[in-house]
Amino acid sequence: MTERAPTARANPVNDLPAEGSMSRNLVVPTVALAVGAHPDDIEFGCGGTLAKWAAAGTAIHHLVLTDGAKGTWDPARHQASLVALRQDEQRRAAIILGGGEVEFLGWTDGELRNGARAQWEVARSIRTVRPDVVLGHDPWRRYRLHPDHRHAGFIVTDAIVAARDPHFFPDQGLGAHRPRALLLWEADEPNHVEDVADFVQAKIAALLAHESQHESTMGIGPGAGRSGDHVAFADQVREQLRQHGRLAGFAQGESFHLITET
Ligand SMILES: [Zn+2]
Repeated sequence: MTERAPTARANPVNDLPAEGSMSRNLVVPTVALAVGAHPDDIEFGCGGTLAKWAAAGTAIHHLVLTDGAKGTWDPARHQASLVALRQDEQRRAAIILGGGEVEFLGWTDGELRNGARAQWEVARSIRTVRPDVVLGHDPWRRYRLHPDHRHAGFIVTDAIVAARDPHFFPDQGLGAHRPRALLLWEADEPNHVEDVADFVQAKIAALLAHESQHESTMGIGPGAGRSGDHVAFADQVREQLRQHGRLAGFAQGESFHLITET
């Protein structure tokens, strides 16, 4: 799965880092940790990449920060049952992407905030899982409205700094850990693309596993037009992957901002 650099100028973490061009396809990690604000964010952001790496033998870990309790348009929806349903959906999606551990921190949807407590929890996860690559929301994406996505991005970047330094959170009793790369999805300035041409169906199927989000997030209604809505949603995902892939000459890709100075 790993492509090698054609020149001696290769960066050790990926294959084609020539100046001014997109880098492509990280060396397949041994362990990857994806951190999303809500159930389904990870699948939208990097589902194809996780499926590709899982197929190549990477141990995948999903960390979902909030409980997803506000993920409905129905004001009468029982929130505790929605939380349980969304956790089941997240576990199913992870299996579709090739398996892996799923951890839920269960913080209140819509009220995610960066701070010492959040950094402690995510740094603990990084030090426990010890990933080569961490994936998360780009907190610097301009004009982003949802605060959870912004805060989730900063929690991850700040937790990486904490996890790598033994003087942060020594009460954890865990060794410091420095990932070799951070990939930020929905990137404000994409500089890296993963080829996911063989994993488009897996990404779509994993997204569709989040049935509670069909209407509010995916435009898939409950009525007679449901099958047409399914097709339209899958087409939207394919079109976005085409656009991302085009940045690096791939038929289908997921783009990121890659940070290697972790
Ligand atoms: Zn979200």
